[in-house]
Amino acid sequence: MSDFDSAAAARPPSALLTDIRARIAHAASLAGRKAGEVELIAISKTRSAEEIAPLIGAGQASFGENRVQEAEGKWPALREGRALRLHLVGQLQSNKAKEAVALFDLIHSIDRPSLIDALARAMDGAGRRPDCFVQVNIGEEAQKGGCAIDDLPALLAQARDAGLPVIGLMAVPPAETEPAPYFALLAKLARRHGLAGLSMGMSSDFETAVMLGATHVRVGTALFGERH
Ligand SMILES: *Cc1c(COP(=O)(O)O)cnc(C)c1O
Repeated sequence: MSDFDSAAAARPPSALLTDIRARIAHAASLAGRKAGEVELIAISKTRSAEEIAPLIGAGQASFGENRVQEAEGKWPALREGRALRLHLVGQLQSNKAKEAVALFDLIHSIDRPSLIDALARAMDGAGRRPDCFVQVNIGEEAQKGGCAIDDLPALLAQARDAGLPVIGLMAVPPAETEPAPYFALLAKLARRHGLAGLSMGMSSDFETAVMLGATHVRVGTALFGERH
């Protein structure tokens, strides 16, 4: 991991971006998919506007943050006059639903009934409906975000009834484990529920995720270097 991180830190963001895009395209072609089926989300949490701007300059259009407040401080100025897509990939508190709906274009962390209620109210109030992913606790880990696999059918039904535009499932597999079986399980759950979107794969495993059907990969460290 550390060799990889220092390599990332030493090279210009535009070169890293070109590499990651090529690796996504290669993984997609191995799986008989097109690179255009996969959206690369640059995870810019903890990064300053000065670190993010060169990636925007290099043509990167999708960015992801994990905290509403941090994103509210950075993005209104950065995105002004540009057609960027902003993704919320971190846990969302119900009392931040309104702010999240106002700022983000996609929300990847729908994981409980009370949050669905809060987002439905916020979307009705704002007249704006960001696309949503339901996050699944795919490794059934105690402290991990995401709904239990058994709760997924009821949560999806509630989200649809509440008018949330659910386009797919999101997961973060357990650390220090082979991620492929978890990606395959998430893909199977999405198919079962007729969902086309699969938000899975991070810096260390995005190629595996693409081969297993990811439509959205969330890459931070490999683009920006180690987080500070
Ligand atoms: C931070 C984060 C990422 C990016 O992780 P890297 O390993 O830096 O690529 C992806 N998804 C979520 C939900 C995150 O919080």
